[in-house]
Amino acid sequence: MISLRFPRFLLKLQKYIYSILFTKNCMDYNWLFNKDKNELEKFRKEYNKKNKDSLNKKLFIFDQDGTLYIDNNLLNGATEFIKYLNLKGKKIIFISNNSSRSTLAYKKKLSNLLGISINQDQIYTSTLATIAYLKSKKISKIYSIGTAEFNEELISHGFELTDKNPNLIVLAFDTSLNYQKLKKACLLIQNGVEYVATHPDKVCPTLEGFIPDIGSFIALIKTATNKEPQNIFGKPNPELINSLLKKFEIKPQEAIIFGDRLYTDIKMGKNSNTSTALMLTGESKIKDLLKYEIFPDFIFQDLNEALYLLQSLDK
Ligand SMILES: [Mg+2]
Repeated sequence: MISLRFPRFLLKLQKYIYSILFTKNCMDYNWLFNKDKNELEKFRKEYNKKNKDSLNKKLFIFDQDGTLYIDNNLLNGATEFIKYLNLKGKKIIFISNNSSRSTLAYKKKLSNLLGISINQDQIYTSTLATIAYLKSKKISKIYSIGTAEFNEELISHGFELTDKNPNLIVLAFDTSLNYQKLKKACLLIQNGVEYVATHPDKVCPTLEGFIPDIGSFIALIKTATNKEPQNIFGKPNPELINSLLKKFEIKPQEAIIFGDRLYTDIKMGKNSNTSTALMLTGESKIKDLLKYEIFPDFIFQDLNEALYLLQSLDK
């Protein structure tokens, strides 16, 4: 009898402890809603300072759009922070969900904007994550909805692009999307061909505002066919970070990801147990923490602030 009651008691105790921790967590963040701009700033700075030891890592992974630049405009502190990491001999990888551009285009863009030489193997995009999957499944014939750059990257990896009996439809961020491509994809899906998407982002930040990204295309195809994509690569799928950790033989706790989106960048970091830094230079606002219930280790106004905190650890 006692042996039956004891585990039940432990379970109740565990439930009680969890309820206290969870309530405290929610209370901490609910507090954000009632505070003015100055109080939020004070909270943010104290929060970052409290977690500062988590900034000392071997591998630094950066989202690009909204974190390092917006369109062709470099964001504050980007060059200085990357230069400092290079000086300290840290590993740096630049990731992007945006499959409208090729790896080579990202290398050129980053090198030009940052004024620093970037190697092509420092770039990892949702296109490369998708290609890795296609190769692992030995898929060769693709119907692609993508830009010319995206299609060229697929062809350079040996894939045949065709609308005649493809093995799979690949949906990328196609900034040249038109009705004919959508019509063809929907008809193929109705005939039983599966589709995958390079990433899930609903919109893409630009200086003009947020423009439709692949998540919006998926919504349209789902409405027309009632079919979900078979797989969605890129952030927040943790496979993207996990493959990088494996490649560099680095433990999750030795890496940190910087990004401007809670539901992709920060969620992926959480999913792969790396540290996370939310940049307020792009899509997410500090009060979105409660909306998504995803809590990063750092919340930075810009990369200058991150640099200052990292330098304070070296003093
Ligand atoms: Mg971004």
